[in-house]
Amino acid sequence: MAGIYIHIPFCRQACHYCDFHFSTNLKNQEEMVNAIAKEIEDRKLYVKEDVSTIYFGGGTPSLLTPEQLNKLLTAINEHFSITDNVEVTLEANPEDLTKDHSQAIFDLGINRLSLGMQTFDDEKLNWMNRIHSANESINAYENARSVGFANISLDLIYAIPDHSRKRWHKDLQSIVALDPEHISLYGLTIEDKTVFGKWERDKKLVQVPDDEAAEQYLFAIDFLKENGFTQYEVSNFGKEGFHSRHNNAYWSGAPYLGVGPGAHSFDGANIRSFNVRNNAKYLKAVEANAEHWEEEVLSSAQRINEQILTGLRTRNGIDLLAIEQQSGMDIHRKHQTFLNEMNSLGLIEISDQNLILKAKGFLVADEIALRLFVPE
Ligand code: SF4
Repeated sequence: MAGIYIHIPFCRQACHYCDFHFSTNLKNQEEMVNAIAKEIEDRKLYVKEDVSTIYFGGGTPSLLTPEQLNKLLTAINEHFSITDNVEVTLEANPEDLTKDHSQAIFDLGINRLSLGMQTFDDEKLNWMNRIHSANESINAYENARSVGFANISLDLIYAIPDHSRKRWHKDLQSIVALDPEHISLYGLTIEDKTVFGKWERDKKLVQVPDDEAAEQYLFAIDFLKENGFTQYEVSNFGKEGFHSRHNNAYWSGAPYLGVGPGAHSFDGANIRSFNVRNNAKYLKAVEANAEHWEEEVLSSAQRINEQILTGLRTRNGIDLLAIEQQSGMDIHRKHQTFLNEMNSLGLIEISDQNLILKAKGFLVADEIALRLFVPE
């Protein structure tokens, strides 16, 4: 099974925390869609397996017209073998999901929406430079439901400065009341090249302390569990049968083709490629049939370390025996003291051969992974 990711590099305005690749200059939208459709055709041999997940990410894919989305889906259908029950996800911003637009994209066969709600606090939405209000988010969700979307994921942000714990609990209650199939939680991180990065340097913004962020995260894990959501990864919670296939494909090491500026691809073995992260350069290169990506060939140790990093972030954890067999390293013996320590701190559990992180362990998943990395 394989996946296709389509990066739509446009947004109406820049959220103050975001460092994804996008442009707020929308005038090249049609040209970009044509270039991405061409890249889909040009790279049609990249994945040979059947495609079971298609994901429109960004940027803001919901600002494409139904005709533009149709052009991309048609190119994918023409050049790849698609499974009958393919999951087709579109990231959407609330301001785009009118009833008519929701209906039009539903009619194209898009069967999963990932909706960026972020918070139900209008003041904070405005502060983060989001375009929509909380009410507009709720209306968008209801529009999507009313036209037939039966698989909707909602994003929430925690650890927002000056957002009280009470407000965070209210956000969680509000999101659960909507009854989505899936919820993604992200802690607000301050990236250098963003408005928030500048505000932090200018001492106009102070990040939420780590212990408060941890408290909000751990509260959410319990709250969502009580409300029927299984945490299947650090940031992702789903009702049974609604865990994102796209995410799972990434974590399981399945091959995927990423098209559009800034998109990544993986051949399922050991080569990752990274498309140029610049709209103008991408358009020029695709037009000229020039290569517009860089490749990285992963060593065997890098592949194993990726498995450790991504595996530990999931509820299945990592299979220590399999890693020992691949790496030739006796992880149990080499890290016995460390594993015992993590165990006694209540951060991990070892069940059969699997090392699994507990809720508190997810807070330090990357640090634990780093300690277990196999050397080159
Ligand atoms: S958060 Fe989403 S909508 Fe906001 S700038 Fe980033 S990609 Fe665009």
